[in-house]
Amino acid sequence: MTFLNGIAASNGIAIAKAYRLVEPNLSFENKTIEDPASEIERFRSAMDKSKNELEAIRDRANTELGADKAAIFEAHLLVLSDPELTGPIEDKIQSEKVNAEAALKETADMFVMMFEQMDNEYMKERAADIRDVTKRVLAHLLGVQLVNPSMIAEEVVIVAEDLTPSDTAQLNRQYVKGFTTDIGGRTSHSAIMARSMEIPAVVGTRTATKDINNGDMVIVDGLKGEVHINPTPELIEQYRKIHEEYEMQKAEWAKLVNEKTVSADNHHVELAANIGTPNDLKGVIENGGEGVGLYRTEFLYMGRDQLPTEEEQFDAYKAVLEGMNGKPVVVRTLDIGGDKELPYLHLPKELNPFLGFRAIRLCLEEQDIFRTQLRALLRASIYGNLKIMFPMIATLDEFRQAKAILEEEKQKLTNEGQKVADKIELGIMVEIPSTAVLADQFAKEVDFFSIGTNDLIQYTMAADRMNQRVSYLYQPYSPSILRLVKMVIDAAHAEGKWAGMCGEMAGDETAIPVLLGLGLDEFSMSATSILKARSLIKNLKKSDMEQLAATVLNMQTTDQVIAAVNEATK
Ligand code: PEP
Ligand code: MG
Repeated sequence: MTFLNGIAASNGIAIAKAYRLVEPNLSFENKTIEDPASEIERFRSAMDKSKNELEAIRDRANTELGADKAAIFEAHLLVLSDPELTGPIEDKIQSEKVNAEAALKETADMFVMMFEQMDNEYMKERAADIRDVTKRVLAHLLGVQLVNPSMIAEEVVIVAEDLTPSDTAQLNRQYVKGFTTDIGGRTSHSAIMARSMEIPAVVGTRTATKDINNGDMVIVDGLKGEVHINPTPELIEQYRKIHEEYEMQKAEWAKLVNEKTVSADNHHVELAANIGTPNDLKGVIENGGEGVGLYRTEFLYMGRDQLPTEEEQFDAYKAVLEGMNGKPVVVRTLDIGGDKELPYLHLPKELNPFLGFRAIRLCLEEQDIFRTQLRALLRASIYGNLKIMFPMIATLDEFRQAKAILEEEKQKLTNEGQKVADKIELGIMVEIPSTAVLADQFAKEVDFFSIGTNDLIQYTMAADRMNQRVSYLYQPYSPSILRLVKMVIDAAHAEGKWAGMCGEMAGDETAIPVLLGLGLDEFSMSATSILKARSLIKNLKKSDMEQLAATVLNMQTTDQVIAAVNEATK
């Protein structure tokens, strides 16, 4: 039995066999061959196997994920049957007597390069298709298995180096019982999604992919951040009990589902949910969310090969607004970049993606993308209580520009005779220290703030939120972070505005008492954290927490703050 320590990224216990989501080694040697005819046969057989495999994946995607996801595999099948690609490969094997792997790779690379250089989005996407198909055929030539999470058909724990948000979105909740990764932190987007999908997860183990083999029995302890590989039957039994106790605890919290969130001295705060897609609404309702405090719209743009149309976006926003039945819904405009990529935008690789061309920076430059989203939002605004929020605002100038574009689109829609809600609150994420420091000035112009601590902490501490090695510096309870949070809340209140928080800190048991004391108005978190947070707040007096907040702001270290919170809430 082996034991790994990592970061508890999503609560719960998972016990199942390991499924390694690790790219296989596709390296090979260039060889001269004796018998081109049999080499061509070998190539054709690999092509046939790839075709059968792709047809099965396409059919499965069609029934389980919908026609648009299946279309990706249809495009791959087209590439496979294209004689313009297969002809030159077979010619090369015949005339140059090279092995099939080399002929395939060289020919495919040439097409990829040619398509990528074209000034045409459609052709650029074909380059990506050819790359994918080449990998699949190469895997068959080499006799290795490509991984494919959408084909999983038994209960598993996924083991991966890292999971991208779009990998995570494709995981089938029915079979994927948990996951563990080598890298990542509590606020990497795969961790955030695991929480909203209620999949127990431990990230940042460093060596999961080295230590765990396919089929190993694995326990993922998402409560403590531990992974047990091939555990003893006694340990499995022990964990089944922990799992049952956790389920019972959840049943207790569930009794609060229809209650408002009020402290023991009757102060109301709003507990809202963070969502990524309209599908997450079910979880929000089941967990008694009083609103949506953050709709991360970028997931609408991911896992596909082109931008969503205005109509597609309108449908999604309308579904969320209607689903929340008049409760507030804060929609964040596109926040792409950092660990969330859109391959079809073909943005150049950056050395520091978290500090680069992302979110509002991209939207202000690529205005077509931004305007389409704003139009969809404005049109949907009449179906509920919409609030719009801009991400990654660093200067007042950015906010003013974004607001001006919004106003222009509103005017255009009105001129076209389209209805738009009379009042749509307009706010910003406070996730860059410059904006927190200047919050008093911003508060004069915005309707609300939502503090994005996931990024605010990484920028304040200069510690990458994805990097396990510096995770010791990623300190939500550091007095430095708490002081910034206080500045933002006070600045909002001084102008009669409200302040919320949608970073993961808002659902954190140690942070909540201090945030209540600092006067935070809205706490937005993974839906699955809401009931636990409500139960905690019910037992706290705001007046006591105000004293606690005043004390911890003057402390020196995170450890002192944690000790003070524990003392005040025991
Ligand atoms: C944040 O930065 O706190 C936030 C909520 O945004 P994201 O996690 O999507 O960067
Ligand atoms: Mg952020």
